[in-house]
Amino acid sequence: MDQPITIALTKGRILKETLPLLAEAGIEPLEDISSSRKLIFPTTMPHVQMVVIRGTDVPTYVKLGSADLGIAGKDMLLEFGAEDMYEPLDLDIARCKLMTAGRAGEAMPEGRVRVATKFVNVARRHFAERGVQVELIKLYGAMELAPLMDLADMIVDIVDTGNTLRANGMEPRELIASVSSRLVVNKAAMKRKHSSIQEIVDKLSAAVLARQGGEVANG
Ligand code: AMP
Repeated sequence: MDQPITIALTKGRILKETLPLLAEAGIEPLEDISSSRKLIFPTTMPHVQMVVIRGTDVPTYVKLGSADLGIAGKDMLLEFGAEDMYEPLDLDIARCKLMTAGRAGEAMPEGRVRVATKFVNVARRHFAERGVQVELIKLYGAMELAPLMDLADMIVDIVDTGNTLRANGMEPRELIASVSSRLVVNKAAMKRKHSSIQEIVDKLSAAVLARQGGEVANG
């Protein structure tokens, strides 16, 4: 018998890329998520429901087992930790890069560097590995503004085309991690609800592989 399954989805930009992939895997919400104020949605798989939450919250829901599965950017998993979760699948959507960036043409200052970011854990690890002393300044958005306003010398942020940086007189510096959205699974749920979860992992793997032009192996 199918066990009830909850999938936590990241709202916003990632959701726009997630829903078509889920549809290709045969999992679709029964109503239009974008025009609804609801947060929980039944799907075309009767035992599967979706919840739509902020990316920062997806690892928490999956770690603590309120959601069995989740879809989150690798940046969120790096920042908020991926303990108690499996990461069985790179969904190959919402690709971008976690990078350091600074004012164009300017060298990194001597001594302590002020770094503004919402990825404080990622930034702390990155600069510690390089032996660079930093003062971390936690922001919740518009990181590019911080060096312009002399709040910080550098930022750690998500970069896609780099247009946002360029438009603000900044340049990308070091690549910290390549980011894409990942499927994560609560470890205890993977044991308890193995067949129901494996079915979803398999459907999503096949959908990802089909997009990449591959073929699903039989058996
Ligand atoms: P760009 O100007 O193309 O470099 O885009 C940079 C901005 O878009 C960043 O500040 C991010 O907030 C956002 N962004 C780009 N790609 C992603 C993604 N895959 N997931 C979340 N945010 C993204």
